[in-house]
Amino acid sequence: LFITFEGGDGAGKSTQAAKLTAALEASGRTVVRTREPGGTPVGEQLRSLVLEHGNGDIDARTEALIFAASRAAHVAQVIRPAVERGEVVVCDRFIDSSVAYQGSGRSLGADDVRQLNVWATEGFTPDLTVLLDVDPEQGRLRRTANEAAEDRLESEPDTFHLRIRRAFLEQARTDPDRYLVLDAGKPVDELAATISARVQELLP
Ligand code: C5P
Repeated sequence: LFITFEGGDGAGKSTQAAKLTAALEASGRTVVRTREPGGTPVGEQLRSLVLEHGNGDIDARTEALIFAASRAAHVAQVIRPAVERGEVVVCDRFIDSSVAYQGSGRSLGADDVRQLNVWATEGFTPDLTVLLDVDPEQGRLRRTANEAAEDRLESEPDTFHLRIRRAFLEQARTDPDRYLVLDAGKPVDELAATISARVQELLP
């Protein structure tokens, strides 16, 4: 089973991914928890590359290709093998983030960015995508509170984050069976319970 968490910066994806992983492990499942960009040695280096080079340093197409390259390695080396072993993969961000950030945020176009990533991953698709929908203003407050956050988009205006939010919601609207859309402002434990219940339905 392949589960992804999506949402704007400060939505609480890492918190929910950690909670879901703990709940699944407590019920005896083997879980691979991973994140994008990253997840493999090459992927982590690509992550450092994009995080070190702030906005303006990397042009949009280069950025999109780096994320797609990181994802190709991630699927080939980590995600697909684990799913084939019957394990649960819980991944912080996937293709939908690229469609939102590079497709809409950087205006490369959602369709082109999705196509590039479908090629990179040989069409490997999550069984469930949890979208933690966050208001950009609220997301910024949470990011400021979380000093560990590796934030490369801090200087982007709210309109940028608003485009990202709309792009996530649009993807969810066109693929409703794959998505669980939740209001990220709800209490952490309530969100975790809703997510766990949905995942239980999907487990063999
Ligand atoms: O998920 P995480 O917060 O660790 O992502 C690191 C940074 O990379 C964030 O600022 C996120 O918005 C950004 N990002 C991006 N394009 C993606 C995925 C993440 O700009 N496709």
